[in-house]
Amino acid sequence: SVTLQSIYKAYGAAAPVLKDVNFDVADGEFCVFIGPSGCGKSTLLRSIAGLEDISAGRLEIGGQDMTHTAPARRGVAMVFQSYALFPHMTARENLAFGLTLNKVDKAEIAQRVGEVARILQLEELLDRKPKAMSGGQRQRVAIGRAIVREPGVFLFDEPLSNLDAALRAQTRFEIARLHRNFGRASTIYVTHDQVEAMTLADRILLLHSGEDTARHGSVAQCGSPLDLYHFPRSKFVAGFIGSPK
Ligand code: ATP
Ligand code: MG
Repeated sequence: SVTLQSIYKAYGAAAPVLKDVNFDVADGEFCVFIGPSGCGKSTLLRSIAGLEDISAGRLEIGGQDMTHTAPARRGVAMVFQSYALFPHMTARENLAFGLTLNKVDKAEIAQRVGEVARILQLEELLDRKPKAMSGGQRQRVAIGRAIVREPGVFLFDEPLSNLDAALRAQTRFEIARLHRNFGRASTIYVTHDQVEAMTLADRILLLHSGEDTARHGSVAQCGSPLDLYHFPRSKFVAGFIGSPK
């Protein structure tokens, strides 16, 4: 689970990018962050991962205060839009890298890498380096690298935006299946794509942005996809979701 309490984030002396964000993601819940470009989705995700220090507020993961905990100790795994694999390592070595760092023993690494390769259909590619793989295959390795660590929280930042339409649909389906297979994990998924948001989300968090600077980076509405669609709380929400009225 992830609990965000009154999160504020400013970069340096600039105006805050996130304002008073309060939100819970339960164990087993799939939550999607949406909002216009620049509203702070990636900042919020990176703050949960510990890649950004928040300016104020409290962050709990698995019921424990992790506001100031180092990224590696948060039990989260993050998949970025530009899936930076290590170019000099094979798919197998890329998958094993985080486990090697954590001193997991060799037999267990081999077993977990094998299992993840089977789930993501990467078995034939394990000895290849990234430059000999397609974009979609590389992205599957990047997703595999996240799940092989068996995290309690999955964070995805627009993981499908570099894929073509067919692969996007297939990988979206794989991510939904992974989430279900990992029973208790919380997943937070950032996207621009309404179809992804509507089909994947148990719950959606929509962040404000735009001319109204007082509200920039605050929560516009949070609820199930159908809630936001049928009962938008403001013109901004209705406009962004494309509600009928
Ligand atoms: P997009 O949909 O385009 O990915 P986003 O919602 O993920 O946008 P963020 O990347 O979180 O938005 O950025 C939120 C705001 O913070 C933007 O105005 C951006 O310019 C600013 N910002 C992001 N990273 C930094 C940084 N390292 N230093 C200063 N400002 C930053
Ligand atoms: Mg972003």
